[in-house]
Amino acid sequence: MLKRSGPYAGLEQAPLIAALHRDFGNRLTLVSSFGAEAAVLLHMAASVHRSIPVIFVDTGKHFWQTRYYRAKLIDLLGLTDVRVVAANPRRLAVADPAGTLSATNSDACCNLRKVEPLERALTGFGAVLSGRKRHHGAGRETLSPVSIDHAGRIKAEPLASFPAGDVARYFERHKLPQHPLVGHGFRSIGCMDCTARGGTAADPRAGRWAATDKFECGIHLGPDGRFVRTGA
Ligand code: SF4
Repeated sequence: MLKRSGPYAGLEQAPLIAALHRDFGNRLTLVSSFGAEAAVLLHMAASVHRSIPVIFVDTGKHFWQTRYYRAKLIDLLGLTDVRVVAANPRRLAVADPAGTLSATNSDACCNLRKVEPLERALTGFGAVLSGRKRHHGAGRETLSPVSIDHAGRIKAEPLASFPAGDVARYFERHKLPQHPLVGHGFRSIGCMDCTARGGTAADPRAGRWAATDKFECGIHLGPDGRFVRTGA
């Protein structure tokens, strides 16, 4: 675990979520893709409070199985405030009229469909939960459980040090359903255009933007591509 100081020092998983909920109340939110491992963080957050707002960024490019799984987890976990946000339709019509931007400029597509809508949705929130983990690699190896993002919000990663094997154990222990595509060989699940079967225990995100050098959509970075400081 990375050494931290401040009010959240030493906290991870549900205790970190509980401390943030105590301090931020309804200004705490969770951003979820309802992907392969999403149920772990959603379950932990629901165990703290089922009304913690959950933001799902609908790119219009998700697998139907993800929408099905979202509905299933909402029902199972009793989530009471899931907010679906999407790109501005006028921006979409101008910037990607044919819906093919992902093939020609995936950074612009992610910015349009994910980064911009999420940034709007986060207005007013003081703390954000995300489910990233160090074992996913691709630049996440040194992930801090708590950072300050580009907008001055607390950015919390309660599962930062969660070992790969613990994800499966958590699903088992809490009898959580798998995303339907996991059984078809998908280890990490995003948009249809940019997600392929595959991935390994060592590199579970290998099926995302496969055969390109892209490995993040940009929602975890500020406009300048960096967080401003860590260790809150
Ligand atoms: S993951 Fe692909 S389809 Fe989805 S927003 Fe990014 S580039 Fe577009």
